[in-house]
Amino acid sequence: MAEAKKGKLFVYAGASGVGKGTIMKELLKRNESIRLSVSATTRDPREGEVDGREYFFVTKDKFEDMISKGGFLEYAQYCDNYYGTPKDYVDEQLNKGYNVFLEIELQGSKNVLNMRPDAVSIFILPPTLDELERRLRDRGTETEDAIEKRLSQAKVEMDHAKMYQYTVINDDLDKAINDVLDIVSKETC
Ligand code: 5GP
Repeated sequence: MAEAKKGKLFVYAGASGVGKGTIMKELLKRNESIRLSVSATTRDPREGEVDGREYFFVTKDKFEDMISKGGFLEYAQYCDNYYGTPKDYVDEQLNKGYNVFLEIELQGSKNVLNMRPDAVSIFILPPTLDELERRLRDRGTETEDAIEKRLSQAKVEMDHAKMYQYTVINDDLDKAINDVLDIVSKETC
């Protein structure tokens, strides 16, 4: 029997509040070849987030145990918390031929792109920084202190936008979704 064609790995990044998650939900609905890697994190769940769906919510001890056992493809610290990509799921899905998206921040993106140079990288940009701040505040999920940290991190991330192969501006949501779907088609056909 012929072996299944391996899927592609996508690094999918963008500042907090830019709408990555909203775009991602639609990508999953509209393209069956896409799988999202569910990360582990030490941050607290937001209202409506479910363990195992948005993230595996773990303690710092558990996270550090997973690091020591080599359980992560990559991990990073972001705004006082750990975030990491469990390795097994990603390889399993790629081997089954799925295109796996890693929704990760800057440090993780750098690490993955070094380790897996064949990965395709996409960065989602807001129309402006003011608009990003408005979205982050309207979301109402973070304290003022966390918003300030995320905005300052957003500027750093946006200064590195050129590091990614593709940038997509999330001005019009439907257009942004279609832009990402076009990238997936182009890179996987
Ligand atoms: P949030 O707390 O808003 O869900 O995520 C904060 C940041 O961490 C976002 O930029 C998100 O993409 C990133 N992130 C989520 N999971 C991972 C991961 O497994 N590894 C890395 N490096 N970043 C992640």
